[in-house]
Amino acid sequence: MKREMYAYVAMAALLIASAGGVVMASGEVDKRVEEFKAGMEKKGAGHGDEALKESGGHEKVAPAVVKKKKKESSGHGASLKKKEHAVAAHHDLVEVSPEAALKLLVDGNRRYVAEKSAGPHRSAKRRVEISKGQHPFAVIVGCSDSRVPPEILFDQGLGDLFVVRTAGNVVDSVALGSIEYAVEHLGAKLIVVLGHERCGAVDATVKGGDAPANIRSVVEAIKPAVEKAKAKGAHGGHGCDLLCGAVKSNVRIVAEKMHSSPILSEFIDDGLLKVVGAYYDLDSGAATLTYRPYL
Ligand SMILES: [Zn+2]
Repeated sequence: MKREMYAYVAMAALLIASAGGVVMASGEVDKRVEEFKAGMEKKGAGHGDEALKESGGHEKVAPAVVKKKKKESSGHGASLKKKEHAVAAHHDLVEVSPEAALKLLVDGNRRYVAEKSAGPHRSAKRRVEISKGQHPFAVIVGCSDSRVPPEILFDQGLGDLFVVRTAGNVVDSVALGSIEYAVEHLGAKLIVVLGHERCGAVDATVKGGDAPANIRSVVEAIKPAVEKAKAKGAHGGHGCDLLCGAVKSNVRIVAEKMHSSPILSEFIDDGLLKVVGAYYDLDSGAATLTYRPYL
């Protein structure tokens, strides 16, 4: 009975990976599902684990499945190795480390600033390539401001970035859940919290005054950053004015909030995910790292 259940769990994992378009090309999933079905028919339900083994299941499971297996394993080091291997096995579109992911963004921003954007991954070929599954290498938590579109200022294209944008790049539970999804199920290796010069949401918070109910939610979320900047003096403690200092404090607070997620914390602790903060200069187009505790 246990073997039967294990077989169904494995099958469900394959189907989840397929339905979510998570980590492997659809053809690969279809093939493996067919192989799995064939194995089930050949061996019978009681030998599902053997059928999974035949289909190379351990090397082809989604990260989420590997995390589940990790909890079942007593050897942390061994399970981590297995997780890294499994994650790596599915980075068929882009395989990057957190450091390499950051370099892709830094290089892209340099091209953008120099007006030498390559506009990568915007072809019909790329569109088709990722139509059955996405594997963004980074999550950008940015402001909704129309002047700060991540794909343009980092010179990236379709399927490269998982973007969460809110006014003032604040993160609530829905945003945090979106980020967790990108990391756990899509394999993103880097989170960049991106604040920007002359952010209207932060400016409104600095200036104070009444705000209607929902806008007030944004202001309330940014308030701790403004208070922090004010406490550091007129210049906000970041070598710039109070607004700029508050934006940078807000970036840091939001970046540190990632640690409040048990899911993200586990990936960070395992070295599979890094979180940084950056400040985008509207005038120059440059995104400068302002918070990089790990890199
Ligand atoms: Zn803004």
